[in-house]
Amino acid sequence: MKIAVCVKQVPDATAAKRIDPETKRLDRSGEAALNATDLNAVEEAIRLKEAQGGEVVLVSLGPERALESLRKALAMGADRAVLVADEAAAGSDLVATSRILAAALEREQADLVLFGQASSDGDGAVLWAAVADRLRRPLISQVAALTTDGSTVTGKRQTEHGYDTISAPLPAVVAVSDAINEPRYPSLKGIMGAKSKPQETLSLADLGVDAAEAGEAGSRTTVLALGPPPARGESLKIEDDGSAAQKILDYLVERRLL
Ligand SMILES: Cc1cc2nc3c(=O)[nH]c(=O)nc-3n(C[C@H](O)[C@H](O)[C@H](O)COP(=O)(O)OP(=O)(O)OC[C@H]3O[C@@H](n4cnc5c(N)ncnc54)[C@H](O)[C@@H]3O)c2cc1C
Repeated sequence: MKIAVCVKQVPDATAAKRIDPETKRLDRSGEAALNATDLNAVEEAIRLKEAQGGEVVLVSLGPERALESLRKALAMGADRAVLVADEAAAGSDLVATSRILAAALEREQADLVLFGQASSDGDGAVLWAAVADRLRRPLISQVAALTTDGSTVTGKRQTEHGYDTISAPLPAVVAVSDAINEPRYPSLKGIMGAKSKPQETLSLADLGVDAAEAGEAGSRTTVLALGPPPARGESLKIEDDGSAAQKILDYLVERRLL
């Protein structure tokens, strides 16, 4: 089975985030890492390959330096990586991003496309739905357990009230939750071998995507203004001298919050 896994390079969780006032975009020039929940998707793909054979290909949209992060997933056991890196794609919103990724996935013709739950920078948890719609393929999201017999995929989907078990014919798109597995650490052999695995960098032209359909030109969202969060309202600092509980109670009662 051929499995494509969509992964994204994001600013490292420990790095301070800054919005560039010129472009009104997140400054992505600092420390970067592979989006944490995408590692669950990579792990699941590798487990399926180990059990049933096949190929795991990483698909990503990002700057050229994203290859550094993709190598971590190659070191875990993915077979090759495809990165769409094109200046004209910078500033792509959900609509443009889904268009470009769908074009890259069409080219791969994978049986199963896996996504992580959400990216830690955009945090939309929605890209997989947009891509599945463009590919006209069934989607199962929030999947905490996954099985496939080669012609259908079955996902145990987490809901507020328990689990739904959903089956869909392949080819299909699945977004996994972080409960699905514990991603492995790459072995030393895996790290050493990652650099020599095939890593392809594609332009928009390679995918037949018009530059006018990507980046800001192809986006349907415009950031009009950015500002600091509003100042907090009235607050009370209570030093605990043994009467803090009573003071908190009095404060809440006074404001009819209790
Ligand atoms: C006006 C505007 C400008 C923007 N400019 C940029 C920009 O210049 N650079 C930038 O990186 N983002 C930019 N973004 C954010 C970008 O549009 C989103 O990151 C993207 O649409 C995915 O949405 P999300 O981050 O909410 O992903 P989610 O829906 O939370 O992601 C779900 C899953 O989709 C997959 N995924 C997400 N992004 C990618 C990707 N790029 N490649 C492969 N798989 C992916 C991962 O598996 C992830 O776990 C911009 C957004 C707006 C509104």
